[in-house]
Amino acid sequence: MFPANIEHYSRPATIDEALATSARFEDGEAMFIAGGQSLMQAMKSRMTRPRCLIDLQAIAELRGICPDANALSIGAMTRYATIAADERLSGYFAALRDAASHVGDRQVRNRGTIGGSCCWNYVASCMPAVVLALGAEMQLRAAGGASRSVAAEDFLIAPLETARTEHEILLGLRFQAPAGRGGSAYQKWGLVKDALPVVGVCVAVTLDAAGRCASARVGLAGLSAGAHRATAAEQVLLGSAGDAAAIAKAFDAAAEAAEVQGDKWANTAYRQNLIRTLGQAVATSAFARAAGSKE
Ligand SMILES: Cc1cc2nc3c(=O)[nH]c(=O)nc-3n(C[C@H](O)[C@H](O)[C@H](O)COP(=O)(O)OP(=O)(O)OC[C@H]3O[C@@H](n4cnc5c(N)ncnc54)[C@H](O)[C@@H]3O)c2cc1C
Repeated sequence: MFPANIEHYSRPATIDEALATSARFEDGEAMFIAGGQSLMQAMKSRMTRPRCLIDLQAIAELRGICPDANALSIGAMTRYATIAADERLSGYFAALRDAASHVGDRQVRNRGTIGGSCCWNYVASCMPAVVLALGAEMQLRAAGGASRSVAAEDFLIAPLETARTEHEILLGLRFQAPAGRGGSAYQKWGLVKDALPVVGVCVAVTLDAAGRCASARVGLAGLSAGAHRATAAEQVLLGSAGDAAAIAKAFDAAAEAAEVQGDKWANTAYRQNLIRTLGQAVATSAFARAAGSKE
């Protein structure tokens, strides 16, 4: 199926040019397009019918991965394939590579972007759960130049809904580096390998000098509420040594507390079991990475 007629296509070279083009249209008439991996489907099905498409691909300042001692910055237009290939994303940031390596197929990973995934905020997307667990700050700019930063949990409101206002561009994501040792991991389970998950779990932990869990954040994907934190699991992990008993207890708590839907892909008990098994695997991996494992 082809999209409906698009009257105006623009491929700006700068953020300001993109914002100025967007501001010339009424609300809902102009849309930014990143990798097109979600938007093209929405346009073909007539779920969205923009009059104007503003293609962000030529804007170099929206691309790139920049780690320093205090923080990691990732441009909104950075593609999954680039994230998956970047070996600097280890330890506390390893979950980004875990997720990016298995989003869709090779074509989706070569086109799709981290910013597009977060702005679309599809119910089963991997990246929103990861950026929640890693406590990202979403950096936005509006026409006229006003910039703001929004915590991922305030940005990701509900499936297909974010705090981004009409005409605002997501510039990138900024992740604070952990004060001490940190590790994270992400895994998903889907009916088809490398496709949207039935359930996905991300765990990010930091350790104190004694090797105890000083902070824990858990993000879930695939549930009807969309990406959200599993605070019940986080509370159990805090202060633990990341041993098998504590991890099992944490993900029993997460499975009990989660509002799980049953559908044609999995019933509620199956999803709860996925939260337990995936959660235990990723938490084990996150603690091992925090302790120095390169796996
Ligand atoms: C076959 C297939 C399999 C997939 N499997 C998975 C999977 O396993 N896991 C997973 O998480 N996802 C999966 N996806 C979805 C994929 O991750 C999409 O790439 C992603 O959801 C959208 O990113 P995009 O760059 O393509 O954005 P687009 O589709 O171009 O845009 C999405 C939305 O974000 C807006 N937008 C994009 N960038 C910006 C910006 N910088 N500022 C403001 N607004 C912006 C657009 O206007 C649009 O509304 C799959 C998709 C396909 C087609």
